[in-house]
Formats: sequence, C-alpha cells, structure tokens
Amino acid sequence: METQRLVADRAIPLLQTLVRNACVNTGADDSGEETRSIEAVRDFLSPYGIESSILYERPDRANLVARIPGRDHFHPTLAYMGHVDVVPADASQWSRDPFGGEVVDGEVWGRGTLDMLGMVATSAAAFTVIAESEPPPGDVLLIVVSDEEAGGTFGARFLTEQHSDLVKCDYMVTEVGGMHLSEGRVPGLTFTVGEKGICWARMKFRGTSGHGSMPYRADNALVKASKAAEALAAYQARPALTPIIREMSEAFMTDRFSRLLARLPATFDLALSRLYRRNPGRAKFLHTAARTSISPNVLETRGKVNIVPGSAALEVDIRLLPGQGVEHAQRMLREAIGDSNEEVEIEFFEFYPSNVSDLETPLKRATERILADILPNTRIVPMFIGGVTDGRYWRQRGTVVYGFAANTPELTMDRFSAMIHGTDERVPVSCLERNFDYLTRLPYELGSEASGQSGELASARVHAE
Ligand SMILES: [Zn+2]
Repeated sequence: METQRLVADRAIPLLQTLVRNACVNTGADDSGEETRSIEAVRDFLSPYGIESSILYERPDRANLVARIPGRDHFHPTLAYMGHVDVVPADASQWSRDPFGGEVVDGEVWGRGTLDMLGMVATSAAAFTVIAESEPPPGDVLLIVVSDEEAGGTFGARFLTEQHSDLVKCDYMVTEVGGMHLSEGRVPGLTFTVGEKGICWARMKFRGTSGHGSMPYRADNALVKASKAAEALAAYQARPALTPIIREMSEAFMTDRFSRLLARLPATFDLALSRLYRRNPGRAKFLHTAARTSISPNVLETRGKVNIVPGSAALEVDIRLLPGQGVEHAQRMLREAIGDSNEEVEIEFFEFYPSNVSDLETPLKRATERILADILPNTRIVPMFIGGVTDGRYWRQRGTVVYGFAANTPELTMDRFSAMIHGTDERVPVSCLERNFDYLTRLPYELGSEASGQSGELASARVHAE
C-alpha cells in the first residue's frame, strides 16, 4: 500500500535521525542544540524542491519554516507545528537505548517518539507528498521549533515575536492529542482545544530568628510555611463544568452512574474518586481540566540546623482557567491559607493566560470527515489540558490551534501518558501511517470545508468561557 511505503521510506528514517540526534533540553540555554535536527529536516525537504527558512536567536537553537503556496490567497493558511527537542532519559531504566531509534515489532523506540518527533517526521513526510500533488487550496506551513520543553524562549516565542508575518496562520495542528479512549460508548480520540494558564507564586513567611536549642514559643517561619503548604494542598477550588468538561467527563467515565454524578458540581468529585479507583491517570487529567489547581512544590529557608528560621519561602504552581488572572490567584491563595496569615508576602514570577480555540470550526469538521474514512467509528473528544505547549503562542494571536494526531487504538490514553517523559517511549508504526493519511488529506478537506469563507472569517477568535 502507498501509505506504508511512503511512511517507511520517508517518515521513519527521518524519525530515526531525530531520535539519534538526542536534542536533550535540560533547561540550560546551551542545551538541546536542535540546529542539528533542524538541518536534518531542511536536508530532508530540499530534494522535493522545498525551500526552508532557518531562523534563530542562538545559532545552536535554530527553527525552520517552510511553505507550500496555495491556489489562492482567499483560502485559510494551515500549519503543522512541532518541536525537535526532547526531555532527558535515564538509559538504565529503559529496556532499549533511548536514543537508538530502533524499529522493533512494528514500533519505533526512543525518547521523543511520542513527544513529539514522530509527529514532526510524519508532518514533514506528508508535506513532501503535498508538495508533489496538486496545489492545496490555501498555503500550508511546516514549522519546526526548538526549546519547547523549557517554555519556547528560543523557539515558538522567538518565532511568533520576531517573525510573526512568516509564521502567521489561520489553523494549526500540533501536540498533544490523539490518545485513544476505548472504554466509552463510542471509541474516542482526544482533541486538545485549549490549555490552562500558568501562574507561579513565591510566598514569603516571616518569623523571628532564635536559638534552635530553645524552641519554646518560637516564631518559626518554616513551620508557618509548611502549615500553609498543607492548607494549599488540601484546598479544592469548585469545579467549572463547561461544555468541554462535560464532554470530557462523558468520555472518561467508565460507567453510567459515574457519568451521571459527573454532571453536577456537587457530585462531580464523587465521580472523580470513583474514576480514580479504576483509572488514576484519567482522573488526574479530568481533575485539573475542571478547576483551578494549586500545588505547593518548593520550600526554602536559609539557615542552619541550630537556628530557628526567621524567613521561609514557598513556591506554588497555580494553573488557571480561562479568564482568570493574577488577582484571582492571589485571592485564592489567601483564602486557602486563611486570614491568620496576613503577614505573608506574595509575589508572582511567571504568568501566561489560559487560551482556548473555538470547537466548531472548519478544521474540526475536516478532521471528522477524514477520520470517518481512515478510523471509522472513532469520534473526537475535546480536551482542555493542565500543561502548556507551544500552541499557546499562536492561540493568543488568534489562530485556531488543535492538539491532535490520528492515532490507532494501539495508543491508548494510559499508554500514551505513561510513556511521554517516562521510560520505554515508543510509537506504533500504525499510528504514523494513519496520521500520515490524515495530514496529507487535511489541506484539501479544510479547503472545501472553509470555501465560501475568507481566511479572516474562518479564523476563529480566542475566547474565554
Ligand atoms: Zn511536546
């Protein structure tokens, strides 16, 4: 079959190169060295007559943009976007070399095969096939970036800020999506439409220094901070059951009674704990999607074992829902730790708002049309996720961004979430093949779904719900 041959000849060899390049992003500015993989993608595209622009702030951390011109400029622009950096892997925990790129029993092994080198290689392979075919209705972009795993400073943020005209698009397909939910009434594939906001706070507690040998009635800042940490961990914001969360619950819950309980805010948490007993991974996804979350993660004092600390700092990871800002986080922190702690000082050192794309768009309809053909009886399950991806930089600028891949049922949500950033990460070749089919057809299906609408009308706005 044609797909099998094209994936074997084009996507898999490129994927193996990307894995073996081991662009490990530790968060240090000079880690990653993604330029090696960016050049590999450029060299992969050029025999097909595709020219790439290589753009960078640091020469060792480059990014690539390539464009296939569409038939006319009235049609919307579609982009495939992915990152080539990966998180570290501890080889001693793996059954195979994490940077070997071996193909074993129909799976390609290696760090990044799911997150998200497999998607990059498949998008690039699909891109060459589109370039060889009749011109698509609108422009198609391939955007390959560095530095996603540390927030996108040298990659997506740099591109959207410094080269916004070059990477401007109406629609985008990227990570994280395409996880199979097999236990619902109809099998579903996750389709990420939005992400929570990031808000990182440092809470400073004051006490009175004293001698560690005489703790009687000591004003110990560390004890205050740890009491606050416990209160923050116990705090549960009320669930916000938006239409997306309701659809997620319907698909995630494994029995009818739980589905019923999940419909009401008052019984939602009961449904969650029932789900947790059977499927803790899904419960974690749903818990964070449905509410503002608070996690106290770093506790610091500067001192010595024989001194009662006079100050302590607690760093807290808060993930916000659409429309919530820093003031909301501030109120919530105060409420969680109680009024007695008014001497605590709160500063925020990172903030990025939650962002959500419209769910009813030509891109979603085009995706459903193709799925009906290549993965029959599979429906789309909209997802709102707790983590952040590079997609946020485009969503903030008005692009409709979905995290999706047309994976086969081999890649269940449980397998997927256990392997990304985990051990023995690998991608089934069948997933690469179905996703290749999806990505080669999408520009044409999107064109017919969006025809009659101008690019501007078709591009949906960012909205808070
Ligand atoms: Zn990723």
